[in-house]
Amino acid sequence: MKNFKQNLLIIIYILLSCIFAYTHLYAKEYKEYIKVGILSNQKSLTIASDKKYFFVSNNKRYRLSAGKIDIKIKNKEAVILNKSYKLPIEFVSSKCLLVNGKIYRGNIIIAASKDGNNIINALKMEDYLKGILPKESNASWNQETLKAQAVISRTYALKNLGKHAKQGFDICSQVHCQVYGGASCETKNCNKAVCETDREVITYKDEPAQVFFHSSCGGHTEDPNFVWKWNSETPVYLKGIKDEYCKDNPHQTWTATIPESTIREKLIKAGHKIGKIQKISTSGTTPAKAAKEIVIKHSKGTLTLNSYVFRCAVSADKIKSTSITSIKTKNKNFIFEGKGWGHKVGLCQWGSKTMGDKGFTYKQILEFYFPKTKIGKIKYAD
Ligand SMILES: [Zn+2]
Ligand SMILES: [Zn+2]
Repeated sequence: MKNFKQNLLIIIYILLSCIFAYTHLYAKEYKEYIKVGILSNQKSLTIASDKKYFFVSNNKRYRLSAGKIDIKIKNKEAVILNKSYKLPIEFVSSKCLLVNGKIYRGNIIIAASKDGNNIINALKMEDYLKGILPKESNASWNQETLKAQAVISRTYALKNLGKHAKQGFDICSQVHCQVYGGASCETKNCNKAVCETDREVITYKDEPAQVFFHSSCGGHTEDPNFVWKWNSETPVYLKGIKDEYCKDNPHQTWTATIPESTIREKLIKAGHKIGKIQKISTSGTTPAKAAKEIVIKHSKGTLTLNSYVFRCAVSADKIKSTSITSIKTKNKNFIFEGKGWGHKVGLCQWGSKTMGDKGFTYKQILEFYFPKTKIGKIKYAD
């Protein structure tokens, strides 16, 4: 009997510990609805719904029949069916709304800001992610890789909420934040990946981690200190790891042939005073074996730039990464050769795809690219 009581007490203790750990992760609440800037500086647009819908302006509700309406926006007002209404105006439907023919879940807001008029999609975070995954990943990839992307995109979105607060929304729908295509781009597999990882985020010390992702790392992910101006010390999970999973991807090696005149023009446009370029070389290597700096010898002197700054100034599309393996000259052209695609920080998407194909779970994929982090569940505020 004594043993039974002791065992019971141990079981109760374990149960209470589990509940505490569970609630601990749930302690932080986030707002469920986010505002995504989908269009800016619009003078006109069309809004449609296949059900009856309504809009709210100046705290008054106006009914609309199913169908499409043309809207003109001018001087902080919008003209709807020949009448003017004050901005902001919020459109609400029990079904999806169409903006310029594109489908969106949630509500659509027309709002004025200092930078002009913005069209904003206000919707649930989990619905927002369904419009992110097909754009930021590849809908035909395996389910575990899609789930890893769903967790990372959710974590990234939470960490970047309010990035566009001055413009009146949380995040934009472009590469600057994450590319968002609304409900028009949703796919069954991507939606399933979002649902199966419901509210899950990557955490470090019980806080959502600062996560990044890119297409292909070229063999080693990068410490952000060598890419951007990083104000604090790099967290342990972003220091960079050796990655052999992405070696067979289509972007593993690349060649970019760019005329000297184009490079010169682009660098001048970026604010660098340079003359005719005679030689371009790399200087130093990062722990990920990428070029630390690019040295440009020109007729007026020498210019040394951070390799990522150089890549973005000249052409981030052609010079696919800073893992530059050779720079040659031929017929007034510079020929760059390199490995990988993107800034190389955080999760390598092609490596993640291979890991998923090999049978790793999304949790194992995230643990590999973000060592020492955990997966936690957030709670949305009511
Ligand atoms: Zn943005
Ligand atoms: Zn990789």
